[in-house]
This record gives sequence, C-alpha cells and structure tokens, in this order.
Amino acid sequence: MKCPRCGNNDGARIQGFQITDVYDGVLFWRCQECGEAFARDDFRNPRLSARSAEYADELNQARAEAAAAAQLPFSALGDDEPLPDTLHRDARPLPRSRLPGDGV
Ligand SMILES: [Zn+2]
Repeated sequence: MKCPRCGNNDGARIQGFQITDVYDGVLFWRCQECGEAFARDDFRNPRLSARSAEYADELNQARAEAAAAAQLPFSALGDDEPLPDTLHRDARPLPRSRLPGDGV
C-alpha cells in the first residue's frame, strides 16, 4: 500500500483501521507520516470498497477541519487526534499482528 498524499509506503508507518460493524479486518488505512486516510484498494466486494472510501473521506474531512481550526497544515496534526464522532463509536486501530492479509 502507498499513501496517495505523500507517497509513504513504509507499512510500519501506515495504520489499519477496523470498524467492527462493517468488516472484520482492516477497512481503511491512515498514513502516520502525513495523516491522510485512504481506502483499502484490494476489496473485491464493491460495497466494501465504497464503505472503505467513505470512511477514509470522512476522516480526511474531519482532519482538514481540525487543521484549519488550529491553523496548521493537514500533515502537522498528530496522528493521535480524536476520530470524528461518527467514526469514534466503532473505529479502532488494529494491532500490527492483524495487518494485513485477512480474507477479503
Ligand atoms: Zn502520507
């Protein structure tokens, strides 16, 4: 996988997020270099692809708003800022041991 914003492809600096109600495994990624969330691109199920993109977009939008409010560049926010409320309920970073390669 590769971050579409900064090109980072160091898997150790890309975090997988799971939303248990949606998929048992990584649903989308977030780059820890620049904070960009991006969809998982290896789902064969179009519904999962769409949900993956939807959550990544939502996270990016929330981050962009937080960055604007703090008058900081998108990439200057820490990678531990709170998730948006709509994601917070279910989204959680997955431990390294579960990345990636769970059945798609
Ligand atoms: Zn990045």
